[in-house]
Amino acid sequence: MTNDTAVKKWGIYAHIPYCVKKCTYCDFSSAAVRNDTRVEMADYAAALRAEILREVPPLRTRWGDAATVYIGGGTPTALPPAFLTDILENLRKTAGNPIECTVEANPGTVDEAYLTQIKAAGANRLSLGVQSFDDRLLRAIGRIHTAEEARAAFHAARAAGFTNVSLDLMYGLPTQTLGDLKRSVEEALALAPEHISVYGLIVEEGTPMAAAEAAGKLALPSEDAAEEMYDWLTEALPACGYHRYEISNFARPGFESRHNLGYWRNVPYLGVGAAAHGYVDGVRWRNEADTRAYIRGIREGCSVRTPEDAVRTRENAMEEYAFLALRTAEGIDAVDFARTFDAALEDIYGAVIEKYIIEGLLCRTSTHIALTPAGMKVGNEIFAAFLH
Ligand code: SF4
Repeated sequence: MTNDTAVKKWGIYAHIPYCVKKCTYCDFSSAAVRNDTRVEMADYAAALRAEILREVPPLRTRWGDAATVYIGGGTPTALPPAFLTDILENLRKTAGNPIECTVEANPGTVDEAYLTQIKAAGANRLSLGVQSFDDRLLRAIGRIHTAEEARAAFHAARAAGFTNVSLDLMYGLPTQTLGDLKRSVEEALALAPEHISVYGLIVEEGTPMAAAEAAGKLALPSEDAAEEMYDWLTEALPACGYHRYEISNFARPGFESRHNLGYWRNVPYLGVGAAAHGYVDGVRWRNEADTRAYIRGIREGCSVRTPEDAVRTRENAMEEYAFLALRTAEGIDAVDFARTFDAALEDIYGAVIEKYIIEGLLCRTSTHIALTPAGMKVGNEIFAAFLH
């Protein structure tokens, strides 16, 4: 329930739906690059440019410069550098100079020259999908890079001038032990990135990994072992100076991802590109996911958006506000909730809040309601309780 006077910042997400090769666990909207994809990539970059030129200026007129830009995927760095720099430059021209401009990169696709070009085009934060520093585990999940290439990509980022680098790591991988995870985290810490994201492996339906599991060919750690990894991570990273500001995200102070915080704080964002999600004026939408249909739609000047909710009620908006904010360490800002919905948080969710405070899963400060560390472990159960 945003209105123009209340919006002080906004973000832009641009989706690049290509990867060098699909990882076995991945169900994101992306396709492996084939020979014919090179031609499609040029058309895609042109369509993205056209969508940016069409959609960004009206929002900039209303709200001023975008605060954040995030180019994700897929693998943005699967694009030839000229395409990615063109997208970055167009975003900068149309959206102003965002405070934070993140590009996701796969370590198997970048070198110092590539990173220097995107840095010069406006990227100032790099998110490297490392996942593990163990070659055996990287192979097991179908990553295209080695641990050595991940280290090299990190050093290349520093050499290119990136002073804000995030590493993604995964736990609960096939045959992974706590010892394996500790070694990977130690390697990550030795590089001293500004930010670390950690994700537990989820075997998504329809992926090669799900097929391997169904065939009894996947040796996942037991639930207890995965929980032990989670517990270790959530203690070890803060102890090393990375505070946990969201369920899966850890940062040195001042290096939290502003863009992602925007998602959890109900900040509007424009989504551009095939399969991109957007949220403006209280409406959520998803762009056409089929890349060719997206390109055609943009060329013909058509809308490529499908609203995510047929009917979106005030109640839906409150629920979403609450469970997104609860993902963050600071939790739900009661004053902002009241301003947004013209209703007191405690009047809407008082009983749920009380129940979980008594159980030690939520805590209350003078301004916020937040998950406790024990609450973060069972976040999904608590989020569900905030749904009417
Ligand atoms: S690189 Fe990322 S988006 Fe691409 S297939 Fe692997 S996990 Fe999915």
